[in-house]
This record gives sequence, C-alpha cells and structure tokens, in this order.
Amino acid sequence: MSVDYIIVGLGLAGLAFAKELENHKKSFLVFEDNSQNSSLVAGGIYNPVVLKRFTPVWNATEQLNIALPFYSALENQFNKKYDFPITIYRLFKSVEEQNNWFSACDNPALSNYMDTKLIKERYEGISADFGYGKLRNTGRIDTKSLLKDYRNYLSQRKLIRNESFQYEAVKINENTVEYKDVIASKIVFCEGFGLKYNPFFNELPMQEAKGELITIHAPKLNIDFFIKSAVFVLPLGNNFYKIGATFNWKDKTQLPTEEGKNELTTKLESFMTVPYQIVEHVAGIRPTVKDRRPLVGKHPKHQNMAVLNGLGTRGVMIAPTLAKALYNNLENGIALDKEISIARFL
Ligand SMILES: Cc1cc2nc3c(=O)[nH]c(=O)nc-3n(C[C@H](O)[C@H](O)[C@H](O)COP(=O)(O)OP(=O)(O)OC[C@H]3O[C@@H](n4cnc5c(N)ncnc54)[C@H](O)[C@@H]3O)c2cc1C
Repeated sequence: MSVDYIIVGLGLAGLAFAKELENHKKSFLVFEDNSQNSSLVAGGIYNPVVLKRFTPVWNATEQLNIALPFYSALENQFNKKYDFPITIYRLFKSVEEQNNWFSACDNPALSNYMDTKLIKERYEGISADFGYGKLRNTGRIDTKSLLKDYRNYLSQRKLIRNESFQYEAVKINENTVEYKDVIASKIVFCEGFGLKYNPFFNELPMQEAKGELITIHAPKLNIDFFIKSAVFVLPLGNNFYKIGATFNWKDKTQLPTEEGKNELTTKLESFMTVPYQIVEHVAGIRPTVKDRRPLVGKHPKHQNMAVLNGLGTRGVMIAPTLAKALYNNLENGIALDKEISIARFL
C-alpha cells in the first residue's frame, strides 16, 4: 500500500492533521491503539482567557479564528453538532478578585471576551457571595463524539488500523518511509503522552499532567452556563454536569483514583450546596511541555519524519492551527514559528 502520509495517533492532533491532508487531497493511513485517551475525556472547553489570572491565552484569537471554522466544517461533513457555545461564569471569591477582573477588562486583547458587568444573580445550589464575571465567545467541543465519528469514517474507508505502531519496524529511506506493507512519503507522530515511548522523539521535554473528571447528577441544580470556581461545572443537560479537573504531575497512569475523586468532591462542595450522585469518573494525561508551548516539526536527521504534539491543556483551540503550520512546513517549506518548533530543544 502506498500513501502520502502515515499518521500515528488519532486524538485531536491526529484528527486535525488528517483533516488538513484531506483538504489538500493527500492520501494517508492512521495507526491508533487506544493507549491514550486525553482527547476522549477532555472537557472540550475553548476559552481565550486564563481564568486564574485574567490574562489572555497565548495567540487565542488567531487560534479561534482557525478552530471555529474547522469544527464547523466537521459538523457539515457529518451532519452533526459538535460545537456547543456556552457562557462561562467565573465565580469570585473576594472583592479583590472582582477588582482584578474589572482591571483586566481594560486590556484590549480581552475586551472582546470579558463582560464588564458584575453578575449578582443568585442560583439555587451555588454559593457565590461575591458574584460572577461573565465571558463571551466561549464554548465546548464534544470531542468524544467527534473522534468517534471521524474514526468510524476512516474505518469505513480503510484509512485507519486499530493497532499499536511498532517503532522498531519503521525503515527511513531518503524519500520514503516504509512500515510493514506500507510505503509513505512522510510520517507524522501524534501520540499525545505516548510520545514518551517514541525512540525518535522521546528526548523532547514532555511532562505528564494527569487530569481526572467526574460526571454528576444533581437534580436540584438547574444552570445552563459553565461555572469556574475551585473546579469547573459544565452542564451536559438533564441535570448532569461534568466536574473537573485535577492536575497531577507525578502519576503517569490513566486510571481514575480515590484521591482524585476526593479532591474534586471537596472542591465542588466548597461552593455547591445541593445533593448529587457521581455517575462517571475518568482520567487522562494532558501532553504538556515544560515551557507550555507545543512540539511541532521535523526530526533533525530524518526530514520525512515529523511530530505534532504538546497540545497541553488547550488542545481544542490549538490543534487546527498547529496542523496547518506543520502541513505548510512539510509541503511548502514555510518556516515554523520559533515558539512552536521543536528546534528550540534540539
Ligand atoms: C481531564 C482533562 C481535561 C481536559 N480538558 C480540556 C478542555 O476542556 N479543553 C481543551 O482544549 N483541552 C482539554 N484537555 C487537554 C486535551 O485533552 C489535550 O490537549 C488533547 O486532547 C491532546 O491531544 P493529542 O491528540 O495530542 O493526544 P491524545 O488525545 O492523547 O491522542 C494521542 C493518540 O495517539 C494514540 N497512540 C499513542 N501511541 C500510539 C502508538 N504507538 N500506536 C498507535 N496509536 C498510538 C493514542 O491512543 C491516542 O488516541 C483536557 C485533558 C484532560 C486529561
């Protein structure tokens, strides 16, 4: 079998790159072994403001300008909704936080997103003595449905193999990459935290940031907006809510833990006062990098081998931008922005 590209891994990074190839009518084959699940468990939120410090997310507006049409095209392709715009309410803990919010509203990079009005409404089940700040132009991508549909679509076309990519079986020639019965012009690795096991790129400084989430049913809580406090509360409909997420920099497993659950429920109960039941508990590893920038670019020795990784905590917003940049680099020789290029570590 002969293709333009082999893609290893189909989370948000692999999907964005596969879509970019489809847009340019390039052929490809994906290998996916379900060893990582960050993209499947993600909250899926896109939000251009850092809610701890009220600062702009790096390149957020540029990323959203590419990401929103990207997800909209997928909605058209599969005739299904994946993008659910949702207002974010930042719950204030003090007058000082209110003041910080209103100062940040003056920042021109944020004024498109941050509302200058203090929200004082009371909502049953939520304790918010200092009110909320409201964000606009934010939303959630249903990453699980999107990935499921895209993987099915590839399956029907025999463009995905559900097996582990074995690095030792790859043969790199000057102009081609051979892997078992497949000959490709190039190979792009999109394994998320699985990059740790990739001998070609495992020296890149990937850090594990495990995250756990629970889904609860709270019959007395009736909100249709996202709350960010000690944890987030993301409404899913019918009184179900996703609560997240933890950050653990040591645990490399993807298993949900008692410790993670206790952390989430303790933090939730610090501001939510109605009864609830936990119906699901999941975990995944965010592929983060020590300088909080992505890992994109060609292998220093093998020009037909590249990596698309390091999406960190904001894969939804950043993946489509990175996929475009990598495609343009590989196909058109357009240099990568220094901040995203792996050259900064090599
Ligand atoms: C709890 C949690 C909450 C999050 N919430 C959000 C959020 O609200 N908004 C947001 O933007 N981001 C969020 N993220 C971050 C987001 O999930 C990541 O940035 C993104 O999913 C990373 O995508 P990826 O494709 O690089 O990696 P992954 O999703 O890990 O995908 C890598 C894929 O490669 C496959 N793979 C790996 N090795 C091999 C191999 N050898 N052979 C074959 N296949 C292989 C894996 O099975 C996997 O499917 C969250 C993450 C977590 C864990």
